[in-house]
Amino acid sequence: MPRVYNWQLGREMSYPYEERHPRWQFAFVFNTNRCIACQTCTMACKATWTFSKGQEAMWWNNVETKPFGGYPAHWDAKLLAMLEAENPGGQVWNAGQPKEREKPFGQFNGKTIFEAAPTHVGPEGPQTVLGYLPTEAEWRTPNVYEDGAAGGKWQAGKFDGSVQLPEHRVWFFYLARICNHCTYPGCLGACPRQAIYKRPEDGIVLIDQERCRGYRKCVEGCPYKKAMYRPTTNTSEKCVGCYPRVEGKDPHLCPDGAPIETRCMSACIGKIRLQGLVEVGPDGKWVVDPASPLYFLIRDRQVALPLYPQFGTEPNGFYIPPRWVNRGYLHQMFGPGVEKAIEQYSCPDRELLAVLQLFRAQRQILFKFRIEKGPKVAEVPVRMPDGTEKVQEIFNDTVIGFNKFGKEVVRVTIEEPIVERPKKHANSI
Ligand code: SF4
Ligand code: SF4
Repeated sequence: MPRVYNWQLGREMSYPYEERHPRWQFAFVFNTNRCIACQTCTMACKATWTFSKGQEAMWWNNVETKPFGGYPAHWDAKLLAMLEAENPGGQVWNAGQPKEREKPFGQFNGKTIFEAAPTHVGPEGPQTVLGYLPTEAEWRTPNVYEDGAAGGKWQAGKFDGSVQLPEHRVWFFYLARICNHCTYPGCLGACPRQAIYKRPEDGIVLIDQERCRGYRKCVEGCPYKKAMYRPTTNTSEKCVGCYPRVEGKDPHLCPDGAPIETRCMSACIGKIRLQGLVEVGPDGKWVVDPASPLYFLIRDRQVALPLYPQFGTEPNGFYIPPRWVNRGYLHQMFGPGVEKAIEQYSCPDRELLAVLQLFRAQRQILFKFRIEKGPKVAEVPVRMPDGTEKVQEIFNDTVIGFNKFGKEVVRVTIEEPIVERPKKHANSI
């Protein structure tokens, strides 16, 4: 297999195809600390793309409760167990290695789904991608175990678990998921028909419905289980990244051709989502651009982390990890960057606090931001993950977001302005 570079693993790895990169890459940051599992995103996607016959069990966007929930059921626990069986005790990071821009988390020394596949010999012989086909029953219950917590015991009618940070003894959190439009997609690598492709203009991964024959190898090979089979057409389908919106081609929303965020992002009630397009150089590296909100959060600050980077697909969905959750669990899910991310999020400096205000402030995709400094308005004591206390200084800065064409499209202050309703619109309640 050809060798490709995976920055999230800090090393080269095997992949069925030669390295090739888009000009821009669809990417997003989800802040798990803010998701309320309202499922508005889920329904926005469902009502747009998967409302037809044969798509009943198809949820391109889903929100599951961790650690027990999953759609399809147990998708991550099953694959982690398969990887462990292929490489017992070896799925480890060498996080102590010197950090570099293209190696921010050290090096993953275990096996990815591409590297573990040759030794996993099933009835069909060795596969190109380690994976499995979920059963029909596993696809049937997208939101089972909602609000099911881990840890603690019931004692005399109440939990004995502590609710003190840094870690709650009883915990759960909501994990919103869509296709990660991976740099090295497992679905694409597994398809024997070469029906899956990654668009050079934005890195969105699509399934060519003319070429697909419904072999379901993509369903098996996607570690995140975001390729799904449709029995009425005998083809597989997946999240299309709302590409007409990203292209700026929606005549109602994008009269001037500016890229608009996807339906699930635009609908998010909890303001947990920020979507973007990051620029990729001819060498496959993200172009250094600290004025891009996504670059700032993911590459500059590393406050947003990839989901299960050890699978090896270099997913382009990133998560700000939940502050209160068991650290061992978070390390398994987001890799060795968890401590640094949580420490920064617990007490954000003024620049980070300003960028966090851009989440769901606008429907247009923000390519750049700028901060105008304001006066100090507060000092707040904050309990840090190591148990110490810190004083957070808060400034009433203004963050300004710009679209693809450099036009200002949003302006948010840290202090929410008070707006009084004019008397002529008095509320009658
Ligand atoms: S998340 Fe799955 S379906 Fe989406 S690009 Fe990655 S491997 Fe393919
Ligand atoms: S709309 Fe936002 S807050 Fe609501 S479930 Fe989806 S991601 Fe979470």
